[in-house]
Amino acid sequence: MIRIGVGYDSHRLVQGRQLVLGGIVIPFEKGLLGHSDGDVLCHAITDSLIGALGMGDIGKHFPDTDPRWKDAASVEMLKHIVEVASENGFEMAWIDSIVITERPKLAPHIESMKEAISKANIPQAVINIKAKTDEGMGFVGREEGIAAYAVCLLRKRGL
Ligand code: MG
Repeated sequence: MIRIGVGYDSHRLVQGRQLVLGGIVIPFEKGLLGHSDGDVLCHAITDSLIGALGMGDIGKHFPDTDPRWKDAASVEMLKHIVEVASENGFEMAWIDSIVITERPKLAPHIESMKEAISKANIPQAVINIKAKTDEGMGFVGREEGIAAYAVCLLRKRGL
């Protein structure tokens, strides 16, 4: 049995926060606002996994009223959901994802992001990350925020 899931997230870019994307800190003059570290890529991947498991959405599992996840590393949130998937007999077959931001350029950081995400017990070999801009259009184009999409494929273990 296989399951697919789709995830999306966006966060506001603000002064005075570190930019955390794909589990790493990226040098930039602004960072993402959030209850956790605001890592939109990890949130989109986590949401896709929750979708594939048929378990609602990220807000249900990690409410922003929960002190446990205040300023949490989002890779830890992802790791938690990977564990839930594993407990339900699923293993990760594939993740594809897109981060959309005007700046900074993410291409030099993609491999480091994959390595960081693999700490959530997802093999690096099944993670793909793409980076693009919105060519100056919309909230991403105005550098007000960063958005990410992810799809994942889960496979029942042993099949
Ligand atoms: Mg989020």
